[in-house]
Amino acid sequence: MSVPNLVGMLPSEMEDLAVELGASRYRGRQLATWIYRKGVVDLEAMTDLPKDFRAALAGRVVTALPEVERETPSQDGSRKLVFRLDDGGRVSSVVMPDDGRVTLCLSTQVGCGYACAFCLTGTMGLVRNLTAAEILAQVLHANRILASDVARAEGLGGDVGAPYADQSSSPRHATHIVFMGMGEPLANYAEVVKTLKILTDAKLGLGYSPRRITVSTVGLVTGIEKLGRENLKVNLAISLHAASDEVRSRLMPVNRAWNLEALMQAVRRYPLAPRQRVFFEYVLLDGVNDTPEDAQRLARLLRNVRAKVNLIPFNDWPASDFRRPPLARILAFQSILLDAGIITTVRWSKGEDIGAACGQLKEAVA
Ligand code: SAH
Repeated sequence: MSVPNLVGMLPSEMEDLAVELGASRYRGRQLATWIYRKGVVDLEAMTDLPKDFRAALAGRVVTALPEVERETPSQDGSRKLVFRLDDGGRVSSVVMPDDGRVTLCLSTQVGCGYACAFCLTGTMGLVRNLTAAEILAQVLHANRILASDVARAEGLGGDVGAPYADQSSSPRHATHIVFMGMGEPLANYAEVVKTLKILTDAKLGLGYSPRRITVSTVGLVTGIEKLGRENLKVNLAISLHAASDEVRSRLMPVNRAWNLEALMQAVRRYPLAPRQRVFFEYVLLDGVNDTPEDAQRLARLLRNVRAKVNLIPFNDWPASDFRRPPLARILAFQSILLDAGIITTVRWSKGEDIGAACGQLKEAVA
């Protein structure tokens, strides 16, 4: 693992590397363009780069990416991509087309160390952080698959490259990216921030608008504060799941380190653009956090916060201790928030039939 991966390097690092190898910074920019704009990682295919430069590069870096081991389509149009990592570990991404947009849900760690009581991934414990290359690979592969789907549908051959700003009805790339797969993004801070910089670099990176990217956290206060200072302008989502410390600490051990007051203070300080809101995820668990009083407590907690609430009806997994509330209770909970003037949607998870729904990501290890 000591040979650096070219994929995952910032464009500016590629420029520095080119200079180190006796070439111009321009060669570094060409590298970034091939990898991030065109989705090509094979040095041999980078035909406008001098042969000796490519040979020098091949001696210094690798461009290896984890392969898609399995692609599982769901009945609802979403699909799960399972990646096999170098060391045999596995992570997955979920591609979710919906009404002209395609949302890609990324994993940032193998397993997760935060042990939320209702989350299947949490039962694995933390295995390791993903590298920026392994996180970006999920985007590059998903976009390649989407592009070839569109090309097939149009009966054309394969130009699979940028631009990433297209908004046609069947996009040839993910239009929105959420860091809501396996792992806690802010616990893998450096690699996640590097990935965000590459995703949002408009010239030499993938060119995603930061407003189409959402980073979700269990509520790591120092990470939220640091992310705010990066000024990347990405959306922040907080996995809240309870509006009292008593219930939240029972569901999410992390609440004992940073309680609701500390968390809400960090959230209030997170820099928001005009009309931007902080997202709050709230998994509805039958008889645990789903009463009208819980909804009222949540409304009070979010008073004076520019918030949008996503209610996630619990997705079941074998041997879980929880159940999804009946529909009427879910809708009643939503109405109380709406009546309090809080934008609230119910997120019916995608890919439940293929183990791709929120909190269901866990892959067997070979
Ligand atoms: N670790 C980060 C990123 C994961 S996001 C975070 O927690 O925010 C995945 C979301 O799905 C989180 O809000 C998580 O709490 C929620 N979730 C976990 N298990 C779930 C389940 N079984 N049903 C519904 N949502 C679940």
